[in-house]
Amino acid sequence: MTTEAGHSKQRDPQDLAQRLRHSGLRNTRPRRYVLEVLAHEEQPLSSREIHSRMGEQACDLVTVYRCLADFERVGLVQRHEFGDGNARYELNDQSGHHRHYVVCRICQRKEAMDVCPPHWLEEKLRVRGYSDISHSMEFFAVCPHCRLQEERESARPQ
Ligand SMILES: [Zn+2]
Ligand SMILES: [Zn+2]
Repeated sequence: MTTEAGHSKQRDPQDLAQRLRHSGLRNTRPRRYVLEVLAHEEQPLSSREIHSRMGEQACDLVTVYRCLADFERVGLVQRHEFGDGNARYELNDQSGHHRHYVVCRICQRKEAMDVCPPHWLEEKLRVRGYSDISHSMEFFAVCPHCRLQEERESARPQ
């Protein structure tokens, strides 16, 4: 049910430029740099984290926001909401596949899962006239490690 942390992402700058072109977005410097940052990450990043990783090439934060909104609209990235008020973004693979996560309520550890709402759910919205449909779905739970810890603590003599 879970995927390897190091699943294949596109790291070649030329391929990133090609993906931009295929998505129908203009190949601008900020877009390329935001994509490059995302291509080198295994974990979803917030716009602030992306901005701080852009280094000297950094554009302003608002531009990063705009790039991410465009990428989400064309299916290049998946947006994640982990419950701390910060949206985080992750590059989808070449075929547009993305991941969803289970987040531990105690230690905040995130694990990727191979699940996605069935296609017909989005199809239903399309039939009702909605377009540019995307979704965000995360699971929240107590991880096995934290559960063990809790059990040990409750078993400890008072
Ligand atoms: Zn945990
Ligand atoms: Zn999904």
